[in-house]
Amino acid sequence: LSTALRHAMVTNQLQLYYQPQLSIDGTRVVGAEALLRWQHPELGWVSPAEFIPVAEESGQIIAIGEWVMRTAIEQLNAWMDSGLPAMIMAVNLSAAQFRQVNLPVLISNILDEVKLPAEYLEVELTESAAMDDPQGAIEIMENIHSRGIRMSIDDFGTGYSSLSYLKRFKVYKLKIDQSFVRNLDSDLEDRMIVAAIISMASTLGMQTIAEGVETVEQLEALKLLGCNEIQGFYFSRPLPADKFEGFVRNHYASKNN
Ligand code: C2E
Ligand code: MG
Ligand code: MG
Repeated sequence: LSTALRHAMVTNQLQLYYQPQLSIDGTRVVGAEALLRWQHPELGWVSPAEFIPVAEESGQIIAIGEWVMRTAIEQLNAWMDSGLPAMIMAVNLSAAQFRQVNLPVLISNILDEVKLPAEYLEVELTESAAMDDPQGAIEIMENIHSRGIRMSIDDFGTGYSSLSYLKRFKVYKLKIDQSFVRNLDSDLEDRMIVAAIISMASTLGMQTIAEGVETVEQLEALKLLGCNEIQGFYFSRPLPADKFEGFVRNHYASKNN
C-alpha cells in the first residue's frame, strides 16, 4: 500500500473532497472540511481510514499533508474569487504533521503565497493527537493561534482529554465525535454526553460542531442542546470541488426564493 501510495502522489490519484459545514439553523454554509480521496486503478477507492495510518508510518503523510494544505487553501481562494460567500476551510492534520517544528511556518507560507487571509483557515487535530503530548501541543497551538489561524479538536469525546490541558489549549471549536451523534435520539447516555460537551465548550469559550449528522431527529436534538454547527450526510456527503460549489450556490438560491 505504501508503494502504491508513493505512486499515487506522482500520478495524481489523490483528490480532495469537501463536506459542507452548516450553521445549526441550516441557513448558512459556514465552512468546508477537506477530506482526502484515493482512487487506485486496480484497488478502486481506498478509504482514508486505511491509507492514512500507512502514510503516517512511512512518513509520506508529511508530503501528502502539505499537498492537502496547499490544494485546500487554493480551492477556497478560487471559490471566494468566483463569488462564493466567505467561509472557513477546515484541514485535517495528522499527529506526525503536528509534531513537525516548521509546521506553523509552512502553513503561513502557503497562505502568503496564495494570498488567503489566515482567518479563513481552520486546522483540525484529533483529541488523541492533542493529548499525546499536551505540553508540546500547547506551544504549537499558541504558535498557530498567534498567526491568526483557527484550531479545532476533531473526534472530541473519544480521546481521554485532560480538562486542565483543554482549558489551556488555544482551541476555537470542538468537533463532537459522530459516535455520540449516531444514537442521539434513542440513547439517553449519549444525549447526556453531548449536552455535557456543549456546556463545557461554552463555559471555556469554545464553539461546537457535531459530526455525522444524518437525520432530522439528530439535528433537532442538537438544536435543543445548543450546538452551534453541524456536518453530516443530512445536508451533504463530501463532494468533489465542482459539486461542492453547486451545493453552496443552490443552497443560497433556494433560501432566497
Ligand atoms: P474526520 O476528520 O473525523 O472526518 C469525518 C469523517 O466522517 C469523514 O470520513 C466523512 O466522510 C465522514 N462523515 C461525514 N458525515 C457523515 C455522516 O453523516 N455519517 C457517517 N457515517 N460518516 C460521515 P472519511 O472521509 O472517510 O475520513 C476518515 C478520516 O480520515 C477523517 O476523519 C480523518 O481523520 C482522516 N482524514 C481524511 N482526510 C484527511 C487528510 O487530508 N489528512 C489527514 N491527516 N487525515 C485525513
Ligand atoms: Mg476532521
Ligand atoms: Mg471526526
